[in-house]
Amino acid sequence: MSAVKQTLTELLRIPGPSGFEGACAAYIQEKIAPYVDEIKSDALGNLICVKKGKGKRVMLAAHSDEIGLIVTGIEGSGFLRVAPIGGLHFELLPGRHVRLKSGCAGVVFSEGGHADGKVSAQRLFIDIGASTKAEAEKKANVGDWAVIEAQISELGARLSAPYMDDRAGCAVLIETMKALGAIDAEVYAVFTSQEEVGLRGAGPAAYALEPDLGIAVDVTIADDVPRAKEGVCVSRLGGGAAIKVMDRGIIAHPQVKRLMEEAADEAGVPYQLEVLTAGATDAGAIHTSRGGVPSGTLSIPCRYVHSPAETIDLNDLEGAVKLLTALLRKA
Ligand SMILES: [Zn+2]
Repeated sequence: MSAVKQTLTELLRIPGPSGFEGACAAYIQEKIAPYVDEIKSDALGNLICVKKGKGKRVMLAAHSDEIGLIVTGIEGSGFLRVAPIGGLHFELLPGRHVRLKSGCAGVVFSEGGHADGKVSAQRLFIDIGASTKAEAEKKANVGDWAVIEAQISELGARLSAPYMDDRAGCAVLIETMKALGAIDAEVYAVFTSQEEVGLRGAGPAAYALEPDLGIAVDVTIADDVPRAKEGVCVSRLGGGAAIKVMDRGIIAHPQVKRLMEEAADEAGVPYQLEVLTAGATDAGAIHTSRGGVPSGTLSIPCRYVHSPAETIDLNDLEGAVKLLTALLRKA
């Protein structure tokens, strides 16, 4: 198994929705420690891994949070009521197995069944096998999180699981830091908190670090699926990492876009250019920090984003590591 696949597979098994990134950060800290000079965390839960250098200050950002559910109440019958953390597609949830903060298992379903097309946050509930409120309270409390149970499917060179967004980006950052060796640039690999609820971690981290250059690594929509419109695909699986031109949060700085294109050519890896008309990444918060930071995003094409079957191609992931490594060596 390749290093990046191994790292990604381990990351996918660690639950942690927005605001509860601690377990993921602890794993990353242990994994990355031999390859960086300093590791710190801040008040928002950002994990900042520093590789010291005398050249440009480059901030890399991959978010360590994932979307999920939060318990809002417990019914007398022992069922849990929930609200979303981040941008969930509620219609995809009934029938899913979930894991709660306490470690207990549950299943999600919707009032009135799943076939009447009226699935909403208000109608969802979690069944943890309790028959009374008191019984449920032994395993769950108001404010506890729940996430989709980790199930990883290998589809040839592709991997499908909940939460590729953005464990794929975290794996790219870890493997890039491992591959770097001696370079001029000072690199801050930041595993940001609370991206899924509004890019909340990345902005304060960028403010504190004052980088000369900002690069987010996150998934983007791969819409090369049945009924995709020829010619207007955001990105395609297996076509290489995508260099962002624009999304709802940023118009990539031309210098950063060019740097990425040159790095791809030097590394000998394919890439695609991406324009995303919905969604944003941490780069959206980094580039407006302080007096402005030239920023861009390196995207991992991903099918079925924000579904329990987010699917990426490992060749794109490995290409992203090579591209980012080449970029940092010349930055
Ligand atoms: Zn993301």
